[in-house]
Amino acid sequence: MRNLIFVAALFFAASASAQTQSKDVYYVYAIEYANSKGWAPVSRVAIGATSNDSVDFAYYFWYLKGDNGKKILVDTGFRKNSTTPKLSLKYYQRPDSVLERLGVTPDEITDIVITHPHFDHIDGLTLFPKATVWMQKKDYDYFVGEAWQRGGDHYGFTHEDVLNIVRVNLEGRLRLVDGDSIEIIPGIRVFIGSRHTWESQHLLVDAHGEKVMLASDDDWFYYNLHNLLPIPLTFDKAAYVRQLKRMKTLVSDTTLIIPGHDGLVLHKFPMVAKDFVKIR
Ligand SMILES: [Zn+2]
Repeated sequence: MRNLIFVAALFFAASASAQTQSKDVYYVYAIEYANSKGWAPVSRVAIGATSNDSVDFAYYFWYLKGDNGKKILVDTGFRKNSTTPKLSLKYYQRPDSVLERLGVTPDEITDIVITHPHFDHIDGLTLFPKATVWMQKKDYDYFVGEAWQRGGDHYGFTHEDVLNIVRVNLEGRLRLVDGDSIEIIPGIRVFIGSRHTWESQHLLVDAHGEKVMLASDDDWFYYNLHNLLPIPLTFDKAAYVRQLKRMKTLVSDTTLIIPGHDGLVLHKFPMVAKDFVKIR
């Protein structure tokens, strides 16, 4: 009997250590590839804001380097050419050239998770021609279809980006995800409900013993998260706030909820290259 208990204890110890040694864990980086000129008053980014504070409106994409060999982008930034809308920017660098600062070349990117198809998140897709692309099915359907029908909303969408994602689908590289709390890639789970676009998504990433929430535009700024205030750009303000609350329950450390456009992100984490911080 004693031997049996000993063997059982050994078995549990071994399986626990196998879990902690999972290869499906990631180093998580945030990359600021553009920044807008001037600061925005919080009243423009958070409905119901009462303070006179302002926010630094920055543009990000995120890079996940897995122990499993995967090199994943969360969104792609935009290319800034004749087809992208004009923004008033303090600076801009093309996303592929920023990635090269970490020695990552475009062909090495294995996967791209698109949080939503606003051009500042999806337009860089063509820079990474070998990646498998993941997107919510309802967001895709709306983006390529109903958004362009009478009464549809295509704010922030471009014709070029629609054609590009359709091409990715025709090439067999698109994976449509249908729903909430789905582990799309081992160690990466996606969540919906904020309705920034028709079905925008955010991601929870296993990052070596901690979970990192990449909120993207499902939380624009720390200000939205801390004050539980919705952004003006959502189909459902109450749902947006519900998701902010849920995000806080999905991480053990709320400083690991990373907003989509807050310039402060670059100051809160260690910088590993110019405009590149390592979150975990
Ligand atoms: Zn957006």
